[in-house]
Amino acid sequence: MYDFTTCEKLLKLAQKHDTSLSEIVIRYECAISDNSRNKIIDEMKNRAKVMKNAINKSMKDPEISVSGMTGESTKRMKKFFSRKKKNLLLSEVSYKAMMYAIATGETNASMGCIVAFPTAGASGVIPGAFFATQEKLKCSDKKLIEAMFTASGIGLTIAENATLAGSKGGCQAEIGSAVAMAAAGLTEMRGGTPEQCMHAAALGLKNLLGLTCDPVGGMVEVPCVKRGGLAATFAISASDLAMSGVESFIPIDEVIDAMGKIGRLLSPKLRETALGGLAVSKTAMKTTKKLGIKIVNNF
Ligand code: SF4
Repeated sequence: MYDFTTCEKLLKLAQKHDTSLSEIVIRYECAISDNSRNKIIDEMKNRAKVMKNAINKSMKDPEISVSGMTGESTKRMKKFFSRKKKNLLLSEVSYKAMMYAIATGETNASMGCIVAFPTAGASGVIPGAFFATQEKLKCSDKKLIEAMFTASGIGLTIAENATLAGSKGGCQAEIGSAVAMAAAGLTEMRGGTPEQCMHAAALGLKNLLGLTCDPVGGMVEVPCVKRGGLAATFAISASDLAMSGVESFIPIDEVIDAMGKIGRLLSPKLRETALGGLAVSKTAMKTTKKLGIKIVNNF
């Protein structure tokens, strides 16, 4: 009854039952699992706690990753924010979203606990955008949890109709999907309609179509961590556009379909093999050699 595999179906269910996207996703979860509504919501609350802890870990106790490639940014951003906030060009909420997303990525890179939402590489985007927005709007935890369900609903349709894996679709499938999920969730969190949530998701994902997966040394650090930080600000931008009434000319399901097709057209060298893009830049090659990492070329 609450089954959906496309965003169109998810939206129609929300319209039919005159409710939010998150409510449909919660009902869907109840229907497909043996778990009660309370259990499902409690589980999401646990994930929110893990996400918050991942941010706090790098904000309070930053760690350089074993490779040495990441672990300095959160500290620098925090210092800049506390001393030179007035010099920011971005809004405070966007800067904080970027800082929290990078903090999560740095926690992941130093082997800390994160929620792969939707993947480890893209794990900073949603918590960055959500927690920064929650602070700004002083939203309740209930609203934040609902936004997580809405984001999950979008992620589910992407997994069904394209992919969430960088190895199959490039980084558009990871960071691009995270932006679409975050943009939809944010839009619901701030009172947007289900239609506006879908436009926000489409606008966010369209902006990152074709993004390659090119991690230096095959590690989820460079460009992943800082890319995730910038992507959190895209999610906020996409949500602002949708809240202004701007619509995506291409519906979200068609954007997802295009993303899957672009992923299949991408060279395997640009799909998590560390054989193309930034991963073969001069600096990346020097670093990979220094770290003793051997990249096998099967293509
Ligand atoms: S570059 Fe690759 S590994 Fe890094 S976040 Fe993007 S998809 Fe994931």
